[in-house]
Amino acid sequence: MKRPLIVQKFGGTSVGSVERIRNVAEQVIRAKQTGKQVVVVVSAMSGETNRLVDLAKQVDSVPNARELDVLLAAGEQVSMALLSMALNKLGHAAVSLTGAQAQITTNSRHNNATISHVDTSVIDQYLDQDKIVIVAGFQGVNESGDITTLGRGGSDTTAVTLAGVLNAEECQIYTDVDGVYSCDPRVVTNAVKWPEIDFPTMHEMARKGAKVLHLPCVSYAWQHQVPLRVLSSFESGHGTLVVGEQAKAQVQGVALRKQMRLLKIAKSHVDVVDKQKEMLGVDEAEWLHDEHFSQLLLKSDCSDRLKLVIENKLVAEQDVALITMIGVEAIAQASQYQQLLNHSDISVLHFCEDKHSITLVIEPEAIDKAAVVLHDNTIITSGTVVEDVKQVHLG
Ligand code: ASP
Ligand code: MG
Repeated sequence: MKRPLIVQKFGGTSVGSVERIRNVAEQVIRAKQTGKQVVVVVSAMSGETNRLVDLAKQVDSVPNARELDVLLAAGEQVSMALLSMALNKLGHAAVSLTGAQAQITTNSRHNNATISHVDTSVIDQYLDQDKIVIVAGFQGVNESGDITTLGRGGSDTTAVTLAGVLNAEECQIYTDVDGVYSCDPRVVTNAVKWPEIDFPTMHEMARKGAKVLHLPCVSYAWQHQVPLRVLSSFESGHGTLVVGEQAKAQVQGVALRKQMRLLKIAKSHVDVVDKQKEMLGVDEAEWLHDEHFSQLLLKSDCSDRLKLVIENKLVAEQDVALITMIGVEAIAQASQYQQLLNHSDISVLHFCEDKHSITLVIEPEAIDKAAVVLHDNTIITSGTVVEDVKQVHLG
């Protein structure tokens, strides 16, 4: 049995100004007035985390990881306190807690930590006093009491983990889009909003670059069966409910990754580079092998770090962008995608297959155009999928 408790998470744009924080407070009060307990997780005000990263980099281009966490955690602390003040001012008792105060314990991987345990006793104590509890997203403490952060976008993961350990009815992620779309709507104007999306597809979308939800958030919700909903904090609506275990056959998502790089390495050096990559904690990287060389596909900023130690093993490098088609059927349609792109004068440099998706490696300049071509030819013109959406609306 779930507990009559809702976890609401508000992202940076939702708490981007004092005015917006007041709107969030009103939204939180509406949830509280349904008679449920409410725990709120907040991100730093929009732009704040980037501002703090920039400050750190002005002091040291590769800042000390522990100190960077101390600095970045300050961003969420500002918004949680302001929201608590706003709620109290409106006559609703609220209390704000940092990750440490909320007893969120993580491992020691600074800047990219994983939550290992949450002791809910402090949160429960305030909930029992009928208070609205506001928790700083994106942060925790390790066993030694040092502040850690969960990686960019990590507030979603704080929210869903709290929803899991508190046995909440639902975890609501309020953001600046009103749900999960078939592609980034800023790039593809025809992107479709899904009323529901299954966990395998959502997980693959987050894994392949869709920014709407932090990947560990989706993994946790899936594993612990936390009902997860993505909604707009600016418009009313039901948003997108992430639910279901079965991946759909048709393509449901087109995920984009810009600022990626291919590093070409002699085959004899692959093992050494692999070890150095692990030592640097670069885990999101993929090998592409051909007859003569191996190429490592990774984010440009990770590549910059890796290059410092493998420079002498590098044969060539190339900036690229990735477009991933997500859906069980996508893999069988590789040659169709290639033809569609070739007709638009875009060449596919490589393909990478996964269980529910296929990724096309292309030139960076072509990404937006490629996204529109592939999306509009697979999602918009596919009668079956559009019909699916209508059925869900009518249902
Ligand atoms: N403030 C952090 C970031 O900008 C965490 C989050 O917003 O989820 O990445
Ligand atoms: Mg986010």
